Amino acid sequence: MTMPAPSTTAVPVAPQATPRDRLDRPLRDLRISVTDRCNFRCTYCMPKEVFGKDYPYLERKALLSFEEVVRIARVFKGLGIEKIRLTGGEPLMRKDVDKLIAMLSDIGGLDLTLTTNGSLLARKAVALRAAGLKRVTVSLDSLDDAVFKAMNDVDFPVAKVLEGIDAAVAAGLKPIKINMVVKRGVNEHSIVPMARYFREQGHILRFIEYMDVGHTNGWRMDDVVSAREIVDMISKEMPLQPADPNYTGEVAERWHYKDGSGEIGVIASVTQAFCRDCTRARISTEGKLYTCLFATAGHDLRALLRNGASDDELNTFVKGIWTRRGDRYSEIRSEKTVKLEKIEMSYIGG
Ligand code: SAM
Ligand code: SF4
Ligand code: SF4
Repeated sequence: MTMPAPSTTAVPVAPQATPRDRLDRPLRDLRISVTDRCNFRCTYCMPKEVFGKDYPYLERKALLSFEEVVRIARVFKGLGIEKIRLTGGEPLMRKDVDKLIAMLSDIGGLDLTLTTNGSLLARKAVALRAAGLKRVTVSLDSLDDAVFKAMNDVDFPVAKVLEGIDAAVAAGLKPIKINMVVKRGVNEHSIVPMARYFREQGHILRFIEYMDVGHTNGWRMDDVVSAREIVDMISKEMPLQPADPNYTGEVAERWHYKDGSGEIGVIASVTQAFCRDCTRARISTEGKLYTCLFATAGHDLRALLRNGASDDELNTFVKGIWTRRGDRYSEIRSEKTVKLEKIEMSYIGG
């Protein structure tokens, strides 16, 4: 079968009524994983014992090409999405990712952002901004080198991530958000110093409860430091008050410093599930569509693309999947669901 020419030109995408799933949730955000590889081995995401030298990463031909990614993005734009986040693995390890960003920017009308471990940001920030990226989220789990190195497990120093953040600021990427995953007994002592530092820097720090994504990180409920505990810890030193969400379905619960010096966010996906407002779809590096971060199976968009499906056929396929969606994993998490063979975070992105 001949492949249709990919429609990646900057023709405006006509929006349709956004589909709603079985729980009446619209489709609003798309997260696209652009690589399953990473230069870190965060113990909670890609533990070294599993992601070793012989780990079977995807081959190059299995990855969606930039044209395929853009074609999928346009189909989703047609279905009403407003936001695209690139993720991975480490998205800045994907060769020429700035070219992909430029192609996605050309679609227009999308809030385009990216989550990175920051290791390559100092080198790439200017090119990313020039390609049309507006803002960025950087993950950093501690300001203490010993703690951070133990968590990234590749001896990567804090200073280089901070350099990347400074480079992003200098390149005009803003606002900058910082993600910190908190694991009990590992980095909870870093919570207050991180809050203090990023309040001074004027960046929004978001604390993420450690989640049972994938099935290789040995997650236990006892390792979770709850959002409530995190807010209490910070509030003792720097009093906080709750703030309204910026929009319905915002993942982070916002808290303002009472003295007006900024805000933090807490992502309580374990202790206060927010499935009822979940408007996110995810595309894996090899083009599978997932309707939940904790899914055990995806829907093969790449096969459709490579078998010559038209944009209308893709649109109908995605719409059908979304309207049948009933995911609410975090609300029904139990001993049984924790043991399921869920897809890995590094494969689907955060
Ligand atoms: N490599 C990039 C990074 O680390 O920012 C992007 C991909 S990473 C999978 C996306 C986000 O997921 C990061 O902020 C990371 O800290 C978070 N994450 C990974 N594993 C997690 C887990 N088990 N629980 C909570 N958050 C996790
Ligand atoms: Fe890599 Fe990000 Fe996972 Fe850490 S969290 S191993 S940086 S993909
Ligand atoms: Fe959305 Fe699934 Fe997370 Fe619930 S568990 S918020 S449905 S991704």
